[in-house]
Amino acid sequence: MTYLDNNRMAGQQRNEARPALQVALARGLVGRCPNCGRERLFRAYLKQVDHCASCGENYSEIESDDAAPWFTMLIVGVLAAPLYFIFQGFFASNFIVAMICFLLALTLLTLVLLPRIKGSLIAAFWYSRRASHRVS
Ligand SMILES: [Zn+2]
Repeated sequence: MTYLDNNRMAGQQRNEARPALQVALARGLVGRCPNCGRERLFRAYLKQVDHCASCGENYSEIESDDAAPWFTMLIVGVLAAPLYFIFQGFFASNFIVAMICFLLALTLLTLVLLPRIKGSLIAAFWYSRRASHRVS
């Protein structure tokens, strides 16, 4: 067995140990490293780490750009109309209170969803990049 065979086998073992797409997406959704799931994916609210402190996976080249805000707006926009009618019905006597609660709910929903969606997108990009490296 040659040195190259040993390196190829070690690479195959590393690839086999890597998670499936669903696992990587779930880890990204909760803000964990898509590869190992042990360390945080974000060092701040939306700032991703360059490298995982546990497994060393490089995330510095993965950028989700405007995709995360776009998907967040899509989901929040779909939920805005039902939320409006719920708050309008719940606070039927006071329109101002209903609107304040409605806007607070939209803001809270946006702030909760945005890092989760960004984490999932980073995990998806990481997985697709890994898959394309495996084919070539
Ligand atoms: Zn990791």
